Parts: sequence; structure tokens; C-alpha cells
Amino acid sequence: FFIALEGGDGAGKSTQAEALADWIRAKGHEVVLTREPGATPVGKRLRSILLDVSSAGLSHRAEALLYAADRAEHIDTVVRPALERGAVVITDRYIDSSVAYQGAGRDLSPTEIARINRWATDGLVPHLTVLLDVDPGTARERFTEAPDRLESEPAEFHARVRAGFLTLAAADPGRYLVVDAGQEPEAVTTVIRHRLDQVLPL
Ligand code: C5P
Repeated sequence: FFIALEGGDGAGKSTQAEALADWIRAKGHEVVLTREPGATPVGKRLRSILLDVSSAGLSHRAEALLYAADRAEHIDTVVRPALERGAVVITDRYIDSSVAYQGAGRDLSPTEIARINRWATDGLVPHLTVLLDVDPGTARERFTEAPDRLESEPAEFHARVRAGFLTLAAADPGRYLVVDAGQEPEAVTTVIRHRLDQVLPL
């Protein structure tokens, strides 16, 4: 079973991913908790290229392809093997992050971004995608470290990214759970657990 957590920076994806992983493990399942970009050795190198402020001015197409390359390596070496042995995989970000950031956030076509990523992942689609939706201003107040290259983008960029995620969710309500991530973390976890109780083969 494959679960993706999506949303803007500071939405609380990693906190929720850990809470869900603990909960599913407690039910006796193997859980692989992973993330993009940077879950593999090559991915870590791509992540540092992508997020370092010295990459300012990186070509938007090059940026989209580097995220897709990280994802291809992640799916081939981590996610598919885990799914094949029956593990539950929870990924902190997946294709929809690229459609929202490199598509809606930049000036590239969301359809094209989706297309290169379908190729990169050989068409692997999550069973459930959880969108943690939060106002970018509220999310910013949660940052504890210096902002990376993307987090330093202006408010309008983050507003486009948020709208991009919401458009994706509206187009595929069967796969998506949209949660108000401005709530307390425990309340967000409860909403996600409720949905998982209905869909997880546990
Ligand atoms: O979620 P995490 O902080 O690990 O993501 C790293 C950075 O990469 C974030 O600043 C996020 O905005 C950015 N990102 C992106 N496009 C993606 C995935 C992540 O711009 N497809």
C-alpha cells in the first residue's frame, strides 16, 4: 500500500508521516517511511544541488528533470522493492509536489511535468495522497532553520504552489484526502487515521 503526503513547506508533512508510520507499525505491518528529494545516495547529492542557495538561477527545465531523476532512483531502488515485499510505503512528497512547484509555481506546463514524472516512475500512482493544506504565511511561522532555495521564493510563488496542489486534489477526489493543516498536529493525525481505517487492508 502506497501513501504520499503532499503540501507546501511547513505544512507538517514529516511530523504526520512519522505519526502515521508509528500507528501502522503498531498494527503489525512493515512500514517504509521515505521522502523526496534525497532518500537515496544519488538523491542526497541531487537534493544538495537543488536546495543550495548557490543554485539560484537554475534553469526551470533542468530543475524539473533533477527532481524527476531523484524520483526515478527513489522508486526503482526503494519504493517498488518495498511494495513488492508487502510493506506499507509512506513518502514525504511525490509527483504532485513537482506538478505544484515546477509546474504551477514556475512557468512550466503542469501537464508536461506530470508526463515526465509518469515516465520517471513508470506510472506508479499512490493508493492515497494526503494533501496537508495550509496558508503559506502560517506555514512560514513554523520554520526552525534558515530557508532553503525554494523556501526563499516570494509569497506569490508559494500561493501558486498551494493552488496547484488544490487543483490536483479537486481533479482526483477518490485518491486525495485534503486536510486543514492549520489545526493542531494531533487533530490532523486523527483525520488521516480515520481515512486510512477505511482504505488500508489491515
Ligand atoms: O519537503 P522538503 O523540505 O524535504 O523539500 C525540500 C525542498 O524542495 C522544499 O523547499 C520544497 O519546496 C522543494 N521542492 C520542490 N519541488 C519538488 C519537491 C520539493 O521545489 N518537487
